[in-house]
Amino acid sequence: MKERITPHLRALINAGSEAIKNQFVKMKQTITKKKFPTLDPLGEEEKYSPVKGLVHKYTRVALIKVSNRCGGHCQFCTRCREIGSADGDLTKEDIINIINYIKEHTEIYEVILSGGDPFFTPNVTFTFLELLEPIKSVKVIRVGTRLPVHAPESFNNVRIQEVLERVEKLNKFTNPVYILIHFNHPDEITPSVERVIWMLRQKGITLLSQTVFLSGVNYFPNNDSDIETSVKILDILFTKLHCLGIIPYYIYRCDYVNGLEHFVVPFFKEVKIMHKLEGLLPGLALPQYVIDAPGGRGKIRVPSLSWFKHIPHTFRDIDGKVIKI
Ligand code: SF4
Repeated sequence: MKERITPHLRALINAGSEAIKNQFVKMKQTITKKKFPTLDPLGEEEKYSPVKGLVHKYTRVALIKVSNRCGGHCQFCTRCREIGSADGDLTKEDIINIINYIKEHTEIYEVILSGGDPFFTPNVTFTFLELLEPIKSVKVIRVGTRLPVHAPESFNNVRIQEVLERVEKLNKFTNPVYILIHFNHPDEITPSVERVIWMLRQKGITLLSQTVFLSGVNYFPNNDSDIETSVKILDILFTKLHCLGIIPYYIYRCDYVNGLEHFVVPFFKEVKIMHKLEGLLPGLALPQYVIDAPGGRGKIRVPSLSWFKHIPHTFRDIDGKVIKI
């Protein structure tokens, strides 16, 4: 994946933010003992993509990849195999195929617009919102984005505003629409980002966030007090989000993507960090800590150290398959 850094992110890097730099500047990879074998550990392309641009992995939920394009390129991205390429651009026929699939599969009641970033290609996103609205079986829409973090000023763009008007109308009169923004570090919440959040809240949209444990971003391995430092960073992040009206929804273990090994935090460090956060954060500010099962299916909730002295390194995914992390 090529480097792509917006002027907004560049300004934060120039001001000294290590967390932003390590997410967006392409680094020489450090040598790690573990080498992940695949670029697609979640099997999105191989197993769960019945038509181009659609991932149907969980019975009731479908994910539409509106494009492979994003405002900035997050170097830890699970879909780094394809982000930035034109291969994900959807033709009219592709869009019709996706919509027909969703209409035929009436068990799908939640549709996630993802990508790439749906707000980076507002025309395609607008089309999908229009086409999804009349489908009776679709009850909930979720839009995942990082554009507020990459380029908050772009939310003044007329086409994005039109998408948001559509979202506002849908949310008020037809289907609940949730916007899920991905934040990894408090440095990402600048005053201009806060203004976007306020604008979205004024439209009555429910806001959620997701985070990924990332070495060099919200965890620093060479630090004697690595756990305490990470707890401090994440405590500030989740408290800020909570106070801004965003519910921190998930914190993920970084996916096991070939080439991203250096971003992965030791598992037991994450478990201990979460245990400390449990004692600090109110319930609404504490995200669920999950692993997207590599080579399996399902978001696996990692149990709390409040229950177990040692959390095992193996678990069963939702199909019963044993997975070792
Ligand atoms: S915005 Fe999302 S899809 Fe795009 S590069 Fe970042 S993590 Fe990947």
